[in-house]
Amino acid sequence: MLPDLSEFLRIREQQGLKRRRTVLESPQSVRIIIDKCEYLSFCSNDYLGLANHPELIQAACLGAQQYGVGAGASHLISGHSEAHHLLEDKLAQFIGFSSALLFSTGYMANMGVITALVGRNGAIFADKLNHASLNDAAILSRARLIRYPHLDMTVLEQRLAKSGAKRKLVVTDAVFSMDGDCVPVEQLISICEQYDAMLLLDDAHGFGVLGDKGRGILFSSAVKNTHAPHVIYMATLGKAAGVFGAFVAAENDVIETLIQTAKSYVYTTACPPLLAHILLKSLERIANDEWRRERLNQHIRLLKERLRTLKWPLLPSDTPIQPILIGDTQEVMHVSRALKKKGLLVPAIRPPTVPQGTARLRISLSAAHQEADILRLVDELHQISNDQ
Ligand SMILES: *Cc1c(COP(=O)(O)O)cnc(C)c1O
Repeated sequence: MLPDLSEFLRIREQQGLKRRRTVLESPQSVRIIIDKCEYLSFCSNDYLGLANHPELIQAACLGAQQYGVGAGASHLISGHSEAHHLLEDKLAQFIGFSSALLFSTGYMANMGVITALVGRNGAIFADKLNHASLNDAAILSRARLIRYPHLDMTVLEQRLAKSGAKRKLVVTDAVFSMDGDCVPVEQLISICEQYDAMLLLDDAHGFGVLGDKGRGILFSSAVKNTHAPHVIYMATLGKAAGVFGAFVAAENDVIETLIQTAKSYVYTTACPPLLAHILLKSLERIANDEWRRERLNQHIRLLKERLRTLKWPLLPSDTPIQPILIGDTQEVMHVSRALKKKGLLVPAIRPPTVPQGTARLRISLSAAHQEADILRLVDELHQISNDQ
């Protein structure tokens, strides 16, 4: 008896909003196989090309031999292995925080941090374009949720000044997942300091990509004071790091509080220790392979320059996320399908993932792309837009 669902699904279909999964028949990479055909992909968050790296695959095999395949228990019971522990130390050291804590996914990390740090008497200040996991966590925390217009520091400051909440937490994507733009990190940190608010920075798309050695948004410019006690840094390990998982880095007291009370940490099985073992290798590649970031940045510059005359605008972004704003949902689907016919995969992003009227193609670039791949995408986009 599911009376409402078929109607719901029919309407989704009619509006061109029904989502379908494609089945990948190859490892994640810039050249992937679907339905036995090879495509050039601009779809993954594997920004550094590590998801299918031979050294990481070898680490996976060795990790399985050393630790088995499952953690078998939560971290607080008996699932916390030396591989997890070592990875946490290395991550904290790498980005200059006193402690770090591993979570199984970024979604769970955001759930855990936000609900552990603010409750009914607290207030959460959130950018309107934040990732769904931050919004869900805010609702679950039962704190007052105050959303401010995208990147509007003036409004944020006004809302903070007016708030009488006991605990205040500002939460934001560091690199916005559907837009590719970045927070003004230094300004944000000082505003939070001034109004006695904690700051949760979700750097899912910045870690590995931005900053000296890929250490993320906090190392992206001549930022000072980035490791102030009110800053809580979160990043995922399934994107540029190429594997799976997430971590939170902060002051000892924050991390210790999460270990005590973050439900998505306490009441779940630890991720397989072999993943932590692979991630130690991934961290080495992130830190040492500066050429991956250089190549990625060359691709970003080339794409932006060559698409300047396209009839649809690129959104302002200097990151590997390069969205082309098309607006209309059906039109964006049409362009995405036309690209697929030519062997190129670029996803169409539609409401409700993005606001109504802002449907877009979301190009994700990778260090694993060749210059010729970027030029091929540019050519096909110009041709399709001229045919419209
Ligand atoms: C992908 C993403 C997450 C979720 O991370 P997972 O590890 O995939 O669960 C959280 N925040 C942002 C901004 C993301 O892009």
